This record gives sequence, C-alpha cells and structure tokens, in this order.
Amino acid sequence: MPGTLYLVPTPIGNLGDISARMADTLTEADFIAAEDTRVTLKLLNHLGLKKPMVSYYRHNTGESGAAVLSRLMAGESCALVTDAGTPAISDPGEDLVRQCAQADIPVVSIPGPCALITALAASGLPTGRFTFEGFLAMNKKNRRAHLEELKGETRTMLFYEAPHKLQATLADLLDTFGPDRRIALCRELTKLHEEIRRTTLGEAVTWYEANPPKGEFVLVVEGGAPAAENVPTLETGLLRVEELRASGASLRDAARQAAAELGLPRKALYDLALGKGTSDRVD
Ligand code: SAM
Repeated sequence: MPGTLYLVPTPIGNLGDISARMADTLTEADFIAAEDTRVTLKLLNHLGLKKPMVSYYRHNTGESGAAVLSRLMAGESCALVTDAGTPAISDPGEDLVRQCAQADIPVVSIPGPCALITALAASGLPTGRFTFEGFLAMNKKNRRAHLEELKGETRTMLFYEAPHKLQATLADLLDTFGPDRRIALCRELTKLHEEIRRTTLGEAVTWYEANPPKGEFVLVVEGGAPAAENVPTLETGLLRVEELRASGASLRDAARQAAAELGLPRKALYDLALGKGTSDRVD
C-alpha cells in the first residue's frame, strides 16, 4: 500500500502561525521533502524535531520528484514543505501532486498560511470572485502580454511581487488599468512591519518613487467595472430605425424617435441608417 503525501504549509513570517496539525504531521511523516533544507532545519529546531530530509526545489523536481514518488510507492509517508506558505502555490509541489494523483497515491493538503489568501482577506476589495496571477514575468514583452490579457478583467486580481521589481510592476499596472484603479499593497504580512496600503495605482506609483519598497509584497488590484448590459449601441438603434421605417415613418423621423427612445446621438444614427441604406428614399 502506498504512503501519503502531506502538503504542509509553514509560516509566512510569524512562527505563532504553526498549527498543532502542522507540527503533528511533520512529527509523524517518515521523511520531509523541503525546498531549502537549511530553512526547514530552523523550523524543525524550533519545534524540537529531528527528521530525515531530502531537498525538493524548482530545479530538481524531475530527479528528486521521482525519488520521492518511489519512496511513497514503497509505503513511506512524506511531508512536503517550502520556505514559507503553502506548497504548490507559486512554489514547488504542483508536479509532485500531479504525479501522485496519476499514481493513486493519497495526497492530504493541510490548510495553513498562504500569502495570497491573507492579503485578499485584508485588502478591502471584493473577495467574492478573484484571480491569482502569481508573479509577472521578468521579460518586458511577456509582462505586457500577461497584463493585456487582464485588461477587461472584472474580478479582483492578485499578484506576488519582489521589492526590487515593485516599481516597474506598478508602472505597468498603471499603464494597463489607469491611475484611479484601487490597489491594496500588502507588505510583510504577519511580520513585525506588516503594512496594508489601500490606495490607487496613481498614488502608489508616486508613493514608492519617494519611499523605496522593502520586504515581500502581495498586490491586490480591483477588477474593472463590468460591461453594462443592454446598453444601446448604434447597431441596436439601427434596428429600431428599420422597425419604424417598416411601419411608415420617414428616415428623419425614425432616426429622431429611435435616438430619443434609446438615448443615442440622432445625427450619428441618421447618418448610419443613411449609409446602410435602410431607405432608398432620403427624406
Ligand atoms: N507558497 C507561498 C504562499 O503560499 O504564499 C508563496 C511563495 S512565493 C515563492 C513568495 C511570494 O509570496 C513573495 O514574493 C511575496 O509576493 C509573497 N509573500 C510571501 N510571504 C509574504 C509575506 N509575509 N507578506 C507579503 N507577501 C508575502
């Protein structure tokens, strides 16, 4: 019978966020797969635990993942941890979970610290629907393409960001969404210098020009206003003109009436109807 892979979140700053279940799972697992064994060793020392560890990080997921998988198949249990937060969320783990799912190896995900959820909850922005966008690419062209895709996004958007890239990212967000779009910059969450700055993109750019950013950030950006439904367009106006024409109104009267009913510009509607040949008679 295979063992179980436990996904064990670890504190994103405050060691008080270690839960009893998190500690129990680390105690009971046969071994720990850690993103950085030196970081995890500090956590284990804090908990007074000694455990065999293997390293599982971004650049060895293939080789190390295969070794972890074969130990799981052989019946051992593994606790997967990263340096901070929830494994598999902008951190190593996604591949291993997929491989376990394919091999029918049980995966137990322990709830716990995660920067994006902590930030979203405190942002003051709508939480009902949101989209997590991870890190924007370093490459300017790819960042732009990513942001272009989000231009019409109406859900709250979350980004992870490092302090040295924050100003460039804010400038790109400003270009994409405009200066009035609201943003919550959630910095150093759960730590001594935790700060949540609820502002607009325009003000955020100005603020961080004068105050160079320090620490880890989650950016929570307000979604765009939903497209108004059933807003009359000239095309819908044109259909109404055609109806009125069919019931005998002159083009001029039909355009005037349709424009008044739908709140559209009369001249533009008249010109459009004329161009579309809704009448072979100009009156
Ligand atoms: N798996 C982690 C999680 O569940 O949140 C995220 C790991 S990702 C490599 C690291 C990024 O998470 C940082 O660059 C930052 O954007 C965000 N982050 C982590 N800890 C944070 C904190 N205490 N305050 C604000 N952002 C944090």
